Amino acid sequence: MSEVKYKRVLMKLSGEALAGDQGRGINPIFVKQVAEEIKEVHDLGVEIAIVVGGGNMWRGEAGAELGMERSQADYIGMLGTVMNALALQDSLENLNVPTRVQTSIEMRQIAEPYIRRKAVRHLEKNRIVIFAAGTGSPYFSTDTTAALRAAEINADAILMAKNGVDGVYSADPRTNPEAEKFDTLTHLDILNKGLQVMDSTASSLSMDTDMPLIVFNFNEQGNIKRVVEGENIGTTVKGDK
Ligand code: UDP
Repeated sequence: MSEVKYKRVLMKLSGEALAGDQGRGINPIFVKQVAEEIKEVHDLGVEIAIVVGGGNMWRGEAGAELGMERSQADYIGMLGTVMNALALQDSLENLNVPTRVQTSIEMRQIAEPYIRRKAVRHLEKNRIVIFAAGTGSPYFSTDTTAALRAAEINADAILMAKNGVDGVYSADPRTNPEAEKFDTLTHLDILNKGLQVMDSTASSLSMDTDMPLIVFNFNEQGNIKRVVEGENIGTTVKGDK
């Protein structure tokens, strides 16, 4: 393996990353680009697990605001992440990258059920493991899933790919020109300052597990590779211990 800073990573991909310009649904052209970026890192010998979001399909909270029962709406959201996972698997396999999808809600005809030991074995065999259906429980997010699975598989870091934002800012840089970028933070800083990085459940779990998190801009080609090679291109959120 060439020199890399992180040997086993958990990458969090939001659903938006697979939607492309439309913002909604799945755009296979964008999925292919994402898969190519991931393949570059896989080629370095890095063990990669991916948690896919589902915001391009459905958000449970939005359904609940329109009168749906929250848990029911969240289950729809979790199913959305499975569609994204299958699309990403398809693109990676077209590039001859071996993958497995594991779902937190069983659907054996299309994916394996989530089994931690099996996931770790796949990683050791250099298969990319895509975790879908979130935690399998409503009221959680795929950010929390990323924090949970990263701890379970003993990842070296969570790589959080953001669309068009190159790290964590004091305010939204797209609307506030005064917004300042942070190079390093702790999970506690994020919670105390109420920064929009992950939701608070995900941040507090990452704090408890002392899990490093790197937030970076996904829209620049080659950035995932830069991050695993240790270039400081985004914001590094360190463990607090
Ligand atoms: N979701 C859930 N439990 C989980 C993960 C996700 O209920 O453990 C649902 C929730 O409704 C959420 C939707 O799935 O709105 C899509 O996930 P998320 O919003 O995290 O996707 P992203 O914003 O990363 O694309």
